[in-house]
Amino acid sequence: MKTLAKKDINKALGIWAQKHALLAPTKMDNGDCIFSAYDEKAFTLDYKKPPLSPKSVFFPHTEVIFDVANNQYKETVTAKKSLIFGLRACDMMGICQASSFMTRDKEDIYYRAKHNTAATIVMACPGAQNETCFCTTTLSGPVAKEGFDLQLYDTGDSFLVEVGSPRGEELLAGIPLSDLDDSRAKVQMDEFKQNAILTMPEVKSVIEAMNMLKDKKVAEKVWDDFGAKCITCGGCAFVCPTCTCFNVYDQQLSEGNGKRLRAWDACLYGGFTREASGHNPRVSQAARLKRRHEHKLLDYSSIDIQQGLCGCVGCGRCSDYCPVHIGTLEVVKAIAG
Ligand code: SF4
Ligand code: SF4
Repeated sequence: MKTLAKKDINKALGIWAQKHALLAPTKMDNGDCIFSAYDEKAFTLDYKKPPLSPKSVFFPHTEVIFDVANNQYKETVTAKKSLIFGLRACDMMGICQASSFMTRDKEDIYYRAKHNTAATIVMACPGAQNETCFCTTTLSGPVAKEGFDLQLYDTGDSFLVEVGSPRGEELLAGIPLSDLDDSRAKVQMDEFKQNAILTMPEVKSVIEAMNMLKDKKVAEKVWDDFGAKCITCGGCAFVCPTCTCFNVYDQQLSEGNGKRLRAWDACLYGGFTREASGHNPRVSQAARLKRRHEHKLLDYSSIDIQQGLCGCVGCGRCSDYCPVHIGTLEVVKAIAG
């Protein structure tokens, strides 16, 4: 196996940045860390879970899907050769989940184009980033199992470099690397993973909640109580790496000219399911919250990347950012409790 010395990380990032739109963990003035265009001065290896997953690389908040000029329309499929450095295992699984959803029946060409041209370098997670992480329960982390091009394991002065795809192999061209005996590397990777798992809370209630939802044993009062608290801000959906609801709308620029766009939406908004007749099959906030959590916690289908586990990757962001503290973690605890 190859290793990359930590002192050479900016050299490697500089090489990758020559051929890619490179996103990397970036320290903001307020102390937050986000995935942003690589800048050697603001880049940091000392980061926790960024507030937003990198899903907008594949599924932007707003994007034009076709332009209309003189009453003729032209589809607009944009993609650039991007590279996301440093994402965590839960976010890697989030990309796999979202990609599986967006390309499963009728392929979403806008998503697919960006997905095909984006490379990923995962930074294996050294342990729970805060008290809301539960990736070990959803089998999404702390180490990515699939989807990545490269995965790095921080072993102190250097990183072990795990190659996940032929594109990952290509990314190593020109990077200053050393060799490490495969069996020693495997011992180090296993140790890294075990140490990380030890820091993770075991959230048994996730499995209990999944079973109770499957057996339709959740009392409606649970949803009524959460529905009464929810202020319909949509924040939980926007920070969630696996949420892919969107709305489509038109902008007329002049007679015969305009564009069609799509933008993030959320199943917790009343308008998301309201039909043209005015009928809404999910008429209350309680019904919408119930549907959201069924979608997160019940099996999607056997073709899902997690082989029928659930649509939540355990990143905990909905619990971190819900202003009234009713993220998925709180919901599963209430269901199971
Ligand atoms: S439902 Fe919450 S914990 Fe699960 S993946 Fe989405 S934001 Fe993360
Ligand atoms: S973040 Fe909380 S309050 Fe906002 S929509 Fe989601 S559940 Fe409701």
